[in-house]
Amino acid sequence: VEEAGDHVVVTLGAGAPIARFLSLAKEQRGVGVAWAAGIPGTVGGLVAMNAGTPAGCMADHLLAAEVATPDGLRWIAAADLKLAYRHCELPPGAVLSRARCRIRRGTDAEIGEQQRAAKADVDKRRATQPLTLPNSGSVFVNPPGDFAGRLIEQVGLKGHKKGGAQISDKHANFIVNLGGAKAADVIDLIALARKTVLDKTGIELKPEVRLFGSFNPPLPPELQPHHVAPILLQQNLEMQLPDAKKTFLRVSP
Ligand SMILES: Cc1cc2nc3c(=O)[nH]c(=O)nc-3n(C[C@H](O)[C@H](O)[C@H](O)COP(=O)(O)OP(=O)(O)OC[C@H]3O[C@@H](n4cnc5c(N)ncnc54)[C@H](O)[C@@H]3O)c2cc1C
Repeated sequence: VEEAGDHVVVTLGAGAPIARFLSLAKEQRGVGVAWAAGIPGTVGGLVAMNAGTPAGCMADHLLAAEVATPDGLRWIAAADLKLAYRHCELPPGAVLSRARCRIRRGTDAEIGEQQRAAKADVDKRRATQPLTLPNSGSVFVNPPGDFAGRLIEQVGLKGHKKGGAQISDKHANFIVNLGGAKAADVIDLIALARKTVLDKTGIELKPEVRLFGSFNPPLPPELQPHHVAPILLQQNLEMQLPDAKKTFLRVSP
């Protein structure tokens, strides 16, 4: 934790839960972070996805991120990550290890208001999202000026099932596992929702979830899996791993 006038700068490990980002902000009387209260995951995931809500996102706070690559550790300024709506450009194969975040210190009134906003957000999610069933959050990013869930519901797919997977009957932009769902079931529902919305409304939904792995049959061209650079395969496997001590000394926050 570093003092920065009316702000505080906190450095968190990428593996820390998002709840730690919030509790640290609370300890430091920080405000402007209520948007993160209902998002599950880690600080690394927050940065890699530039996760957030209409009320705020990681880009509002991130100053720099530390990444681990085969060359060692280095800090990247937030501006160089090209953060945008659910978008972050990490160097290929980089693993986030730490994040430096700026949080504004608030008045008692602002802190009270933040607690109310965080609770209201969590309560709203409980009422509107299928949080009692396994899911991966919003399947599609919202297209400009509209909501993916509203469009999927409009085309009649809310509650539609494939195998053990279902387009949630509570929120149509979530796919839930009712039991025994296979990845192929989920992919089929994603492809069906995308195609039906495109055919009936002309709006193309783009996945927010990242699809990993190899798929048989192959995915349609518009749903390509997320590319994870196989960094070890790009390198000479005989390479010397960086000396941990030297690597640490090279870090310059
Ligand atoms: C019920 C529910 C509600 C959700 N609500 C929201 C919401 O309101 N807003 C929102 O933005 N998201 C939301 N999500 C999605 C998810 O919570 C966020 O994307 C979160 O940031 C993911 O964090 P994670 O640690 O679980 O990352 P993962 O899901 O494990 O990974 C997400 C991506 O980040 C990469 N990544 C993760 N950690 C690192 C790291 N250390 N280094 C490099 N890359 C890394 C992964 O490779 C992957 O590509 C929701 C999910 C659920 C299940």
